[in-house]
Amino acid sequence: MHGGATVELQAGLAAEDANGRRRLVASRCSACDKTFFPKRKFCGKCGSADGQQEVLLNGKGTLYAFSLIDRKSQYTMIEPPYVQAEIRMPEGVHVFTVMDNCDSKDLRTGMDAEVYWDVIGKDKEGNGIVAYKFKPCAANAN
Ligand SMILES: [Zn+2]
Repeated sequence: MHGGATVELQAGLAAEDANGRRRLVASRCSACDKTFFPKRKFCGKCGSADGQQEVLLNGKGTLYAFSLIDRKSQYTMIEPPYVQAEIRMPEGVHVFTVMDNCDSKDLRTGMDAEVYWDVIGKDKEGNGIVAYKFKPCAANAN
């Protein structure tokens, strides 16, 4: 495999932390403390446009809800069937995501899940297109 360049499918969803680890970017309202992902320019709870602080999510949460999708969506590059999931993050926000690297029969609400980035296609220049997904944490298998 060659280590080709990658591009993000959607801008602004991820950033590197001080250790060079890629993390999801949320925002937290400094007026009411509500957290949103993806980040927002103003708060969806209290309406404040000031003080939306970027927060890098740790990347581990628990599976809150999931559904097996068997149709091709107009807005996704992913081929069905796949699992659409909602992950409850410890930072107080839920992340909507595709749950991959798993068999849907093994999923249960409350299980630990973690973010990862997957190359889901290539652009015209041959760069890998990268999107975030979640997968069950390895510890769930024990
Ligand atoms: Zn607010």
